[in-house]
Amino acid sequence: MSEHIQSSATRLAAVRGLIAGAARDCGRKPDEITLVAVSKTFEAAAIEPVLGAGQRVFGENRVQEAMAKWPDLRMRHPGTDLHLIGPLQSNKAADAVAFFDCIESLDRPKLARALADEIQRQGRQPLLMVQVNTGAEPQKAGILPEAADAFIADCRGPLGLAIGGLMCIPPADEPPSPHFALLAKIARRNGLNRLSMGMSADFPAAIQCGATHVRIGSAIFGTR
Ligand SMILES: *Cc1c(COP(=O)(O)O)cnc(C)c1O
Repeated sequence: MSEHIQSSATRLAAVRGLIAGAARDCGRKPDEITLVAVSKTFEAAAIEPVLGAGQRVFGENRVQEAMAKWPDLRMRHPGTDLHLIGPLQSNKAADAVAFFDCIESLDRPKLARALADEIQRQGRQPLLMVQVNTGAEPQKAGILPEAADAFIADCRGPLGLAIGGLMCIPPADEPPSPHFALLAKIARRNGLNRLSMGMSADFPAAIQCGATHVRIGSAIFGTR
């Protein structure tokens, strides 16, 4: 895509068209898929036109960065949903619960406990997704696939957390579809119906494997 000539609003429309096409190709309805526009590293001025084009769900990977740039944008564009898609430290759980509508990166018991405490204390309940490290990559966040069932059960049981879905980021150097299929399988056997998977390079494959949320940054905002 010629991202330097096209505007972000134009690229957003193109991405929406591709999402709809990928959905129809596998017999799904386009409105089953939520586009999470990943605005990390981009300033408010770059996000504004995408909001202006009607996009209302955004992803950020850092709590601090989101809290610096989103209060103004949200005030100007009510009804905007913010997803935290990056690793979350337990000591930022309070900020994350207060600020985000969805936390996609729940991936370990200590964080689950911190989130449960804050949800209780604040009386605010963001949607929670468990991140699964489908490729078992040592440098990557996420619960290991073989530990996912027990972790989800612990979140739901003792901690009383409502788990809404699963998220994954497949290894960069492997075909993504087996990872998407694995995430879908873990979701099915745990009765979860939201799947956040697919980025700029692989979202059509993710939609084919059942993605309900695709997280797309560079195809909309340009190269970071
Ligand atoms: C940056 C990021 C994305 C978006 O990646 P693009 O390749 O720019 O679409 C999606 N998910 C996560 C977790 C990210 O950190």
